[in-house]
Amino acid sequence: MTQNQKEVRTRIAPSPTGYDLHVGSVAVALMNYAWAKKHSGKFIVRIEDTDRKRVVKGAETRILKTLKLIGLSADESPLVGGPFGPYRQSERLEIYHHYAQILIKKNFAYYCICAPERLDKIRKEQLSKKKPPRYDRHCLINQETVTKKIKTGIPYVIRLKVPSNQEIFINDLVRGRIVFKSDDLDDQILIKSDGFPTYHLAVVVDDHLMKINYVIRGEEWLSSTPKHIILYQAFSWSLPFFAHVPLLRNPDRSKLSKRNNPVWVSFYLQQGIIPEALLNYLSLMGWSHPSGKEIFSLEEYVSVFDLRDIQKTAPVFDPVKLEWMSGEYIRKLSSNQIKSMILDFFKNYQNKNLPEPLIEKTIPLIKERIKKLSDYGDYCQFFFSRPKEYELDLSDKKELLKKIFHELKSISDWKSEIISRKMTELAKSNQLNTGEIFMILRVLITGKKVSPPISESLVILGKEESLKRIEACGIS
Ligand code: GLU
Repeated sequence: MTQNQKEVRTRIAPSPTGYDLHVGSVAVALMNYAWAKKHSGKFIVRIEDTDRKRVVKGAETRILKTLKLIGLSADESPLVGGPFGPYRQSERLEIYHHYAQILIKKNFAYYCICAPERLDKIRKEQLSKKKPPRYDRHCLINQETVTKKIKTGIPYVIRLKVPSNQEIFINDLVRGRIVFKSDDLDDQILIKSDGFPTYHLAVVVDDHLMKINYVIRGEEWLSSTPKHIILYQAFSWSLPFFAHVPLLRNPDRSKLSKRNNPVWVSFYLQQGIIPEALLNYLSLMGWSHPSGKEIFSLEEYVSVFDLRDIQKTAPVFDPVKLEWMSGEYIRKLSSNQIKSMILDFFKNYQNKNLPEPLIEKTIPLIKERIKKLSDYGDYCQFFFSRPKEYELDLSDKKELLKKIFHELKSISDWKSEIISRKMTELAKSNQLNTGEIFMILRVLITGKKVSPPISESLVILGKEESLKRIEACGIS
């Protein structure tokens, strides 16, 4: 059977070493997901937690939760299991040891007991001679003595014996053919002294055992790939296809990092960016829709995505554009859908139970304005509580405030058209700009200079509450 006839199996292999899932990881996850689904294959999530010093408490749970929230469900993962589990590397240590032993037997790996001080010393010497730092294979030539010492309990590592003078080719689906020289590679540690494997051994063993045939990942892993290829060859395993995709950049083209923009997906979800919009936007990172469309469903993405269309240039991740897209998604929802999303959002992220009937009334006022669900709170907070601060100083406008108060008080049919008409007339009779009156009214009622349409907002608040708010400013 050739690679092409096999079931397509892709994976993402996040390390729980940050807060959550990086937006760039979701962009890569989308490609993996789409490629698998397009071919009715399987999309796998494996947690790579072998770098114990860097593991962040709670990160794995947050990563898996985020994937669920954004709707990228895995066919196999630590949560749902699957035929090739466990899907958490820290639970697969015996497997890595087994394969490390095979490499030792085949003479592709060796034990090393060099103390960190010695390694440091040779490293410094090499650097001072302007040579790339490499392990000098001190232990390789003494394997018998080394193994004896290991039996006495001395800490050791297992290193890859990189074959000398070889050219290693990668036929990358994005970057084309790339050649590396084995002589440029160090004898990579495969098993560390804490008994955990390094990423390099674990990734190759797992991708092979989990039958991953497309390795689609960020280009930061490209320089590791020759080591992986050496391992595949050492085991006599067939290579997967590789696709190394460009990393995201900030709008100023600098590398996307926490310092410039928030990078964790949970941040955007906590802001109430619509998850479908987040996926849609991230699917455009390094790939474009064949007909130039910007907005499309995940389903459509899966059907039109092609690995061969991934661009080589680094895509720009622009949170402003993401917000815009989220707003477009909100526009497409029914008022009922928006209501439920707002209710869920405030409950889940802000631990607030908002009153449903009131929310329902406000939706027509904000539907065209909000870009993310948290905007609802910014715009509509005043419906739930009186303003504590005012964005305009109204202290020198007492006379005008009184007039506004009495004008509103005289309205018996509390409708937005009537409120607007009365305010317009008041402006005219006082030789004032209509906009000014409405701005004052807005600040009186909401505390803010920007709000949903004010006359409609007054109707929702009711006459009594509206007048009370004006009174609260010391007018009667
Ligand atoms: N564990 C690596 C990461 O944190 C995965 C690299 C790969 O996909 O091979 O991104």
